[in-house]
Amino acid sequence: MKSISKRIFAALVCAAVLVVSTPITAYADSTLDHLNDQYSELEKQQQALKDKLNQTKTEKEKQEAIRNNLNNQITTTQKQITLLDNKINYLQNDIADKEERINELSAEVLEQQDLFMKRIRSIYKTSVGTSMLGMVFGVDSLGSYLSYGKYLSRISEHDSALLQTLSDNITELRDLQQQMQAEKEDLADTKVTAESKKASLTSQKTEVESTLQDIKKMEQEYLADQATIQKEMKQIQADIDAIYAANSGNGSQVDYSTTGFIYPVNGYTYISSYYGWRFNNTDYHTGVDFPAPANTPIRASASGTVIYVRTGAGYGRAWGYGNYLIVDHGGGFSTLYAHCTSVAVSVGDTVTKGQTIAYVGTTGWSTGYHLHFEIRRNGAHTNPLNYL
Ligand SMILES: [Zn+2]
Repeated sequence: MKSISKRIFAALVCAAVLVVSTPITAYADSTLDHLNDQYSELEKQQQALKDKLNQTKTEKEKQEAIRNNLNNQITTTQKQITLLDNKINYLQNDIADKEERINELSAEVLEQQDLFMKRIRSIYKTSVGTSMLGMVFGVDSLGSYLSYGKYLSRISEHDSALLQTLSDNITELRDLQQQMQAEKEDLADTKVTAESKKASLTSQKTEVESTLQDIKKMEQEYLADQATIQKEMKQIQADIDAIYAANSGNGSQVDYSTTGFIYPVNGYTYISSYYGWRFNNTDYHTGVDFPAPANTPIRASASGTVIYVRTGAGYGRAWGYGNYLIVDHGGGFSTLYAHCTSVAVSVGDTVTKGQTIAYVGTTGWSTGYHLHFEIRRNGAHTNPLNYL
């Protein structure tokens, strides 16, 4: 079936208004108008979705920029934390080194003290021995004693100086150690600050990620809506095409004014809506409505060939006729059966008068179970009651 573009279709409607005598006029009726309106409405919805998608894209880019910025900040903060860790480790090692050196020096102090005591003891023994000898033998004892006394004093001075130096070194190391400890504590504080900053940035990032997920989900929904609308637009276009195609009759000469059509729902002849203007002349009803329970069989009003079947319509879906079919009867006549629950025949099937072809439903623009039935002559809808 050839597709008629919206533009060409609009042109056709215009032509129909101008050239009243062509059969096309018949389709500038409520059905076509409705289909046309639906198409325009869907086009509007498509545009609105396009706008929403653009807004979504802008918002997505904005959030992505924020996220990238947060990522950079997190990286910088992490670098800072690593650097602080290195410095803290370095100081820790240095403090340990100093401790080791202090221990070494302390050991040396003890050793020196020990040596000093040994020397004192040795000098004492020697001097006492000498004086004893001096006292016993009276030999030069005083001179020797003085000489030992000076020696003892010098030894003592030397050892004191050595011990003092060692002690000074230890004090100096302890001071350095304390400074390092203080510096280390400062760095640890800075690290705590940096880590809390990083945690805050990470939580911000989590929020942005979640916003981005929402936006992406919304985007997916819009895209899905767009696809659905595109599908519906295509269906409406196909409906419009079908109406045109269905009305190019095969030209066989059957006089239905004598052979007649039968009521399409056996046992249900009550009409809830007649052919013609209705609703205070706001809607032109292109057929008649026969209310009947769900799934009541619909029969072919006359023998003919199925030339169009549309199924797959849901309830309250955009396209007006819902599931419907058109049977061509020759002689320029065709019948249309709309809002069906299901259709029992296929395009090309030959049907005989009275044969079940579909079942009553309420698909498409319908507020209750009924058959919308049309009889068209040379494509133009007519009052079915003229033929039933
Ligand atoms: Zn109707």
